[in-house]
Amino acid sequence: MSPRRFNKINNNILWSSIHYIIKTLSLQVKLLKIKAHSGNHFNDIVDIQAKLGHTQPIPTTILHDHLLNQTITLSWNKEIPLNKDVCKCINSTKSNLIDWALSSKWFHFNGRNDTTSPLHSKDLKWRIRCSTLTLPTLDIMNRNSPLLIKDHTQCLLCNNTVESNVHLWECPEIYERIRIGFIALGDKLIDLLSIHANKLVSSITDSVQYSNTFRWAYRSKPIHPVALFLLKSYISNDLCVVSNSKLTFGNIDMFTSDQRVAAAISRIQVIDNNRDLERGYINPFNDF
Ligand SMILES: [Zn+2]
Repeated sequence: MSPRRFNKINNNILWSSIHYIIKTLSLQVKLLKIKAHSGNHFNDIVDIQAKLGHTQPIPTTILHDHLLNQTITLSWNKEIPLNKDVCKCINSTKSNLIDWALSSKWFHFNGRNDTTSPLHSKDLKWRIRCSTLTLPTLDIMNRNSPLLIKDHTQCLLCNNTVESNVHLWECPEIYERIRIGFIALGDKLIDLLSIHANKLVSSITDSVQYSNTFRWAYRSKPIHPVALFLLKSYISNDLCVVSNSKLTFGNIDMFTSDQRVAAAISRIQVIDNNRDLERGYINPFNDF
């Protein structure tokens, strides 16, 4: 079974532990299905233990690092191991900050006039690297190519902090550029909504300029965490609330499929020697 498939099994850490115990102690195990509440003595003991465990203030942690089956264990916030389908875990956070369905649409959105444009692949690669914090910042390059860049990890702009995917958006030297970018984006959104929605322009302006995504920029405040989501190519619920009340984006498509096909046919083939190096990126939204 592939690690990807294994990670989708509910309570996979628990199953790995059971497997580990059986294997290490060379136990002969026969599986028997016991009907719930059927008066089976040992099943009742297990029930009681499970209920007791459920009320414990500190949850039981299984040290999963040494378990052979747990080749890959994803963890949330470097703290809680995810031992079931990641998509289902994500769904439970759906109501909070990120609109996953719309983020998925944004990942698949092709803003180029061409079905298989290499520029679109570049766009997609940017979105994937941004969202998974894998842009080639100095910390990553130093780790991957220590012979080329050794111990040069300080941010080239502020020379004060290690350049990482997190620092990239939080560097004080880059703040003003991001702020101006967000004002331009906010203004553009106001224009777009004014054209496509039938509400009063003043209410549109207010809802954009007072939203968490844009307010900080218009008032020169520190970047709001919700705006960081947008920088990392996620569509936040905040942004949806701003625009959903005004219009539905469903019907806005920039190019017809005929236009895209025509552009693909007339495109000049570019031979890219780096092609092999660029494979291997998995769109994290493939499952949606
Ligand atoms: Zn910096």
